[in-house]
Amino acid sequence: MKINTPYPCSFDMGIIEAFMNKFRKDGSITFIKHFSEECSMKGAPACEYKVKR
Ligand SMILES: [Zn+2]
Repeated sequence: MKINTPYPCSFDMGIIEAFMNKFRKDGSITFIKHFSEECSMKGAPACEYKVKR
């Protein structure tokens, strides 16, 4: 999952996590992790996240 937004990635991860948990079906909680070493906050074009359910 790659996301390119002008927002800090911690902000994005919070949004994604909230979104995933809102639509979860079986009561499981979704975790999201910053996967790439590169970070848009450090000048990379995008951050990559790993979503775990
Ligand atoms: Zn990042």
